[in-house]
Amino acid sequence: MFMKFAMIGAGAMGLRYGILLQEAGNDVTFIDTWQPHIDKIREQGGVYVMRDHKDRHLTKIKLETPESYQGDPDMFIFFVKQMQLDDYLKRCAHLFNDRQYAFTCMNGMGHIEKLQKYFADDKIIGGTALIATVLPGPGEVDFMGKRGAGKMNMCPLNEKPDEMTHKLFNELKKAQMNPTLTHDFTGTLMTKVIFNSVINTLCTMFEIPMGELGNFKGFYSMGRQLIDEAYDICARAGIHLVSTRDEEMTALDRNVRIDMPLHYPSMYQDMIKDRPTEVDYINGYIAELGRKYHYEAATHLFVTQAVHLAEYHRQNEAKKRAAAKQAELQKQTA
Ligand code: NAD
Repeated sequence: MFMKFAMIGAGAMGLRYGILLQEAGNDVTFIDTWQPHIDKIREQGGVYVMRDHKDRHLTKIKLETPESYQGDPDMFIFFVKQMQLDDYLKRCAHLFNDRQYAFTCMNGMGHIEKLQKYFADDKIIGGTALIATVLPGPGEVDFMGKRGAGKMNMCPLNEKPDEMTHKLFNELKKAQMNPTLTHDFTGTLMTKVIFNSVINTLCTMFEIPMGELGNFKGFYSMGRQLIDEAYDICARAGIHLVSTRDEEMTALDRNVRIDMPLHYPSMYQDMIKDRPTEVDYINGYIAELGRKYHYEAATHLFVTQAVHLAEYHRQNEAKKRAAAKQAELQKQTA
């Protein structure tokens, strides 16, 4: 039986999940607020979808804003950046009712507490996605990897999979997202946060593709230092991670060198577009958790600030370029 979904966020991942669920026979509506994207999709009559930069084709989608959407879906799927979530939840609040579920595979931590303000615990399903997708600009999306590439984990917040959890699992399977149903909610999410705390941040601050990080001879010791701090903190917090430290290092190594060597992580995509990154919800979250358990996560704190420094540098460069352009214009009109 098909399901009725509303995707909150028609960005890279919202489009990937939503279009694949639509192609698997589900009823999908996208909800977004980024006006240039909305205008472009309406003007084109859909979204241009590519796979690994090739086979660019137009795919029709149903697109609404929080204010124009009138539907009552079985499930909302949230794919926005952590810092956008509060605003989306406020703007969509009038659409939510007790029957509906909320599902998300957003990176970082902080989103679940926000969802809990609007959805009961037995209606929240969380997860993680090892699936790379890029939004090159308004109205187009690039699915990285072949059909069926990538994998994901999912787990209900109450750790008791119900009929809707299994229905979602089956639809994600049909959509070739390769889901695994896990048994430990926080452990599942934190294992991915730790994974991202190495790859996303290091590649972003040095503006390098993942393969370059993996091939650097100091990668193991840099990665291991971040992993060890995060695992020590999780042990103090009583969080059972779904892989051991060694398994996490092996997964990182495989991901950067074999699975996605040419890919830049989504945090990098934000930085080069001069958008804020999710670092405070990844390394920053780990450091904050450390503080709560009297553990100084010095490396994660340092890395968080290093990414903010990279953001600050880019903002200054953008300001300099704008000032130079303005001066050039004034010279021409003088
Ligand atoms: P995204 O930035 O592509 O889209 C999120 C929202 O931002 C959408 O509403 C989109 O319309 C809007 N947006 C996109 N570009 C914008 C711009 N230049 N200016 C203003 N608004 C813009 O986000 P995403 O990559 O889909 O990520 C959603 C969540 O999934 C995040 O937590 C991310 O870390 C996580 N995630 C991403 C990937 C990936 O490969 N992209 C993989 C796994 C997890």
